Amino acid sequence: MNASEAERRTRDLLERDASSVWHPFTQHAVWPDDDPLVIDRAEGMRVFDTQGRSYLDGNSSLWVNVHGHRVPEIDQAIRDQLERLGHTTFLGSTHETGIELAEMLVARTPQRLTRAFFSSDGASSVEAAIKMAFQSAAQRGQHRPLYLHIAEGYHGDTLGAVSVGGIEQFHATYRPLLLATVMADSPGILREGQTRAERAAEVLQQMRELLERDGQRICGIVIEPLVQAAAGMLTHDASFVMGVRQLCDEFDTLMIVDEVATGLGRTGSMWAVDRAGVEPDLLTLGKGITGGYLPLSAVMASESVYESFLGAPTSGRTFFHGHSYTANPLCCAAAIANLHLMDQRNTVAHAAHIGEVIAEELAVLHGDDRVVEVRRIGTMTGIEVAPVDGVDRTGFAVCQHMRTLGVLTRPLSDVVVLMPPLAMSDDDVRTMTAAAIESIRAVVR
Ligand code: PMP
Repeated sequence: MNASEAERRTRDLLERDASSVWHPFTQHAVWPDDDPLVIDRAEGMRVFDTQGRSYLDGNSSLWVNVHGHRVPEIDQAIRDQLERLGHTTFLGSTHETGIELAEMLVARTPQRLTRAFFSSDGASSVEAAIKMAFQSAAQRGQHRPLYLHIAEGYHGDTLGAVSVGGIEQFHATYRPLLLATVMADSPGILREGQTRAERAAEVLQQMRELLERDGQRICGIVIEPLVQAAAGMLTHDASFVMGVRQLCDEFDTLMIVDEVATGLGRTGSMWAVDRAGVEPDLLTLGKGITGGYLPLSAVMASESVYESFLGAPTSGRTFFHGHSYTANPLCCAAAIANLHLMDQRNTVAHAAHIGEVIAEELAVLHGDDRVVEVRRIGTMTGIEVAPVDGVDRTGFAVCQHMRTLGVLTRPLSDVVVLMPPLAMSDDDVRTMTAAAIESIRAVVR
């Protein structure tokens, strides 16, 4: 295809898109003018648009990609699975691929977590986890219809997940529809002169007061451990995660950690809770579990939560929750291949290493008044830029500039997100950070 054919094809696809598609988290009044990319194919750390231009995948295709694109081992695992079984239900029957993946997850998550309940997206795993917490309490004779959660939290877009979220821009509209909850302040938003450890202690004290008031009615505390990702990579001190565990023990409520974004190596450890030395009662995971190929998520549950659901079929203790595609074998096969590769290649250690490379490269931004703050744990990086007068979306403008330099990412308001596939090479990481620095200098004056 020559250049003009490629251009015609791109224009045609965008016209068809504009007349039939509604994109997530996209303002369609401006979308056609934002020069959207049409992605055609991908290879390794790069994606290619319909005009043949290549871009480094700077946000792991929205935080999911692990080893790059078109990984032969994962491709083959999906093909092999296709030869055996594309899909069958997990409601009342089982299959080897799902069993094997559950075993692998139990072996890789904190010891307390002994059961894998599969779901499809991050949000649907959070829905399952919060329903489990409520029902588990009820089956222990306690009426606990509330959740304690944190401002600036994000757990997905279904109504239960939104209920335990706390990002005004995304969640305020739906408040009349939401579950009753109790929300504490964010440990990631510091007051003037405060350290993160001081802030953690302050929010924990606030949570203690909320628990003293409502604790008897709270079935779980829901947090994103260490990084509130969608809020703009707000980071907090590990003492916060430890303190939440202590509060859960003291007030006999479940600790629910949402590791959909932080899990599977993104923080430079397998789980963010590992960095705090904490074991939760329920842990949600998703995104990178299939290497960034297919939608799959899971709730990992403790044996004691699991046991609270056991009883006669007539007892009402069944977890009446599931999906047509629960534990889809193709998704499970991709996940198994991904986890094997992570083991063989020491991917989590590599992620910790490239996190340090990111830190070294971004050090030049310290003290630069174009930048409000650089926040990072492991590979999860947010560069908050100063808003520019006359530019209504500064973060977006920086990312559009990065695109011209061949690096793709998506901002969160004025936070430029860098979250490379965990297996990215040092050289590619430096290309990505250099594009961010150059673009910030070009756009934010
Ligand atoms: N939890 C967290 C912490 C997330 O960051 C996200 C997505 N960014 C979700 C849940 C929702 O996952 P999904 O988009 O797969 O529903």
